[in-house]
Amino acid sequence: MDPTKIGIDQDFFLKTFAALAEIGRDPNGQGYQRLAWSRAEREAHRWFRNQSEQLGFEVWTDHAGNSFADFSPLADSEVPALTIGSHLDTVPYGGAFDGGLGVVAALTAAKAIRDSGVPFKRPLRVAAFTDEEGPRFGTGLLGSKAVSGALDMDLVRQAQDVDGIRLQDAMAEFGCDLESLPLVRQTLKRFYGYIELHIEQGPRLERAGLPLAAVTAVTGIRQIRLTFQGKSNHAGTTPKEDRQNTLRAAAETIAQFSAYVDATDNLVANPGRVQVHPNATNVVPGETRLDWDIRSPDPQLLDQATRKLAQLAQAASAPFHIVSEDKIFHDVPPCPLNEKWTGIIEASAKVLNLPITRLVSWAGHDAGVLGRVIPSAMIFVPSRDGISHAPEEFSSDAAMLEGTRLLTQTTLAILTERRAE
Ligand SMILES: [Zn+2]
Repeated sequence: MDPTKIGIDQDFFLKTFAALAEIGRDPNGQGYQRLAWSRAEREAHRWFRNQSEQLGFEVWTDHAGNSFADFSPLADSEVPALTIGSHLDTVPYGGAFDGGLGVVAALTAAKAIRDSGVPFKRPLRVAAFTDEEGPRFGTGLLGSKAVSGALDMDLVRQAQDVDGIRLQDAMAEFGCDLESLPLVRQTLKRFYGYIELHIEQGPRLERAGLPLAAVTAVTGIRQIRLTFQGKSNHAGTTPKEDRQNTLRAAAETIAQFSAYVDATDNLVANPGRVQVHPNATNVVPGETRLDWDIRSPDPQLLDQATRKLAQLAQAASAPFHIVSEDKIFHDVPPCPLNEKWTGIIEASAKVLNLPITRLVSWAGHDAGVLGRVIPSAMIFVPSRDGISHAPEEFSSDAAMLEGTRLLTQTTLAILTERRAE
């Protein structure tokens, strides 16, 4: 690769990051409320398009509400663009760094590369994807899924928020037609690959005292509901041997499966939600529903864990003469990121003299969706105390600037690679 070092405009990064951080602040000072298809999220997208126009980039949007800014030095505008970016929405009471960092860093990188005058062989695009987080409508990764053609239109049509506002109507308020979402896929041919800079959202970099990571894979996420079916009865008079206590079977399953997960590398699992019926102190619970979130970057391990969970649930049910059922209700396959590009990230860190490690991402990202259809790569910077999705989310200016430098250097290396076609 070309070992030319490229500088970035630090003031531009800091000012632009501060400007974005003014949009969608929680009125009570509890972080940010830039939920998907809210006024604040749409304002952030308008802000992004204005910023991009001021930089002289060509701005366009699609039917999913995604915003893009292109810079093409080529006469042939049909050449697919190398795309860098992230998302502008937040979770409720979220932070300014998750998503926002990636978008501002991408604008800074694009400006630096454009201003450097280095000849490159592909167009460059900055992307701000919509509804990455998903808590409002239960959709999540909506913008990047629309581009990659992975949207489940039945789910999207049914989606509504806690106030009963349908996704369809929230989109219409901002001039987007839900039924046009499948058309977004036609733009995929305009994307060559995708690189995303993001906060780590965990404590591993901070604990290792390292400033950067190249992400090797985005985890698969499988959510499974176990339903234990027994019989409700009196808590005092029912003989011990007759009690079909479904909550005890669920508790036993939690203990057994957690032990299995603790002893297995590359696998995490969380028993996060229990619904007990009738949920009364003096009644043997006749039905318990137990929801698990299971994650692994290894698809075989996910399948193995799914089978193990079902077996353990059945084994825990037998002594109580109850039955258990398991049902997957949310399933995102793991996504290995592009190995060659991960290597380019590491080589670029070397050019900049920055230490770097490799990490798996245990959170979902747009790069984990796009990485299934186009070459994709990710860079992490440390999160203070490993906290994210909370008002305390924080990464230092120094950490963000180092990440932005690495994003810029990596993007330049890929843009100046010889085109194969
Ligand atoms: Zn994010």
